[in-house]
Amino acid sequence: MTVSQQVFLRDAMRRLNLTRDVFAVRIGVKRRALDTWLLPEGSQEFRTMPEVVSRFVTEIVENEGLLQKYAQSAQSGPLRDRIAFEGKHQLLSVDQFTRESVEELFRIADQMQPIARRQKVSRVLEGAVLGNLFFEASTRTRVSFGAAFCRLGGSVCDTTGFTFSSMAKGESIYDTSRVMSGYVDAMVIRHPEKGSVAEFARATNIPVVNGGDGPGEHPSQALLDLYTILTEFSRLGKLLDGAHIALVGDLKYGRTVHSLIKLLALYRGLKFTLISPRGLEMPEYLLEQTGKHGHTVNQTNSLEEGLAGADVIYATRVQKERFAAEELEGYTPDFQVNKAIIDKCCGPDVIVMHPLPRDSREGANDLSVDLNHDTRLAIFRQTDNGIPVRMAIFAVLLGVEGLVQHSLRDVTWSPPSHVGPDDSVFQDMD
Ligand code: ASP
Repeated sequence: MTVSQQVFLRDAMRRLNLTRDVFAVRIGVKRRALDTWLLPEGSQEFRTMPEVVSRFVTEIVENEGLLQKYAQSAQSGPLRDRIAFEGKHQLLSVDQFTRESVEELFRIADQMQPIARRQKVSRVLEGAVLGNLFFEASTRTRVSFGAAFCRLGGSVCDTTGFTFSSMAKGESIYDTSRVMSGYVDAMVIRHPEKGSVAEFARATNIPVVNGGDGPGEHPSQALLDLYTILTEFSRLGKLLDGAHIALVGDLKYGRTVHSLIKLLALYRGLKFTLISPRGLEMPEYLLEQTGKHGHTVNQTNSLEEGLAGADVIYATRVQKERFAAEELEGYTPDFQVNKAIIDKCCGPDVIVMHPLPRDSREGANDLSVDLNHDTRLAIFRQTDNGIPVRMAIFAVLLGVEGLVQHSLRDVTWSPPSHVGPDDSVFQDMD
């Protein structure tokens, strides 16, 4: 096996589209045994899968003809060519993905997990420089893209805000993009105008990643969100096909939900419930596009009604910076996603997500902090997943994904066993 046991098994389950329970039955082992094989290697409960099981799983996947299909897609060229944007190795929109290519990217993200968890290091991007150009507020996206690039051995140069950039002197997107291309090997760009990152991308041949273009898209966020949903569902024994997804909050200006609904639409038979205050509903074109894929889409202004029976609750912040205050009418306290409403409307295995930041100020009516010790709250597992997914994006766009496995070395320092003070509660949830 050239990849780790965890990557191998997760990939097999995704390709066979089987839940953990069904997969365990299919390969004739106890669910508990399978769970221990799926844990990260450093974990206490981790067990090595017998060689005979690994051969059997390979055989099943081959028999299903899925490996052949995979080989065919591999023959059709590297992933970066198949997801290219206007022929370039750039990531502007989730529209660039199919279900197969997105799952291929996640296989690479799984391979990055030992690096993201500080067990291994890699230098496959040694010498490469990333330009992080953020013309709008950011903490997570900017730092996690930077950290992802560094963890692959590259270096990062940052610029933040308009005030300190030459754009404040009237420089065009074209000029900025061309100039930066002479300095760095890849760029991540965030800009307040929809379509602006594509303009940057057209002015250069180096890889560009859209880190959020106004109310347009946020593709890397949607990719890490989908990766989180699939990982959580694998633990819970659920399949994404047929699931009930509730998107809550500012669905009009929230770019994360715009990208996420399109990406989720690559799966089958989903039920979407879109819960927003009046005036902040999901744009019509996205409703039409989702409906065309054969999914059920319901819209409501009632949180309680919309959350009933959801498998995933994806809450979002009101994007106040993008609209006038009068549109906020209807965003009342009964819009707050908190423990009481989740206990009332949802089951014990619902997962609660949010792209963050959440507005924790008094009267903000965003996702409540009273769920912080509740295992259903997946927001920090979600942010943690930003690293392997963004590493996978860089590895693919720069064409080094095939070098990662053999580049891995053990870390030389001793990271804490849990990075967050509350993380032990979630130990071994994989
Ligand atoms: N961080 C996300 C974004 O940049 C969500 C938000 O800001 O509300 O779109």
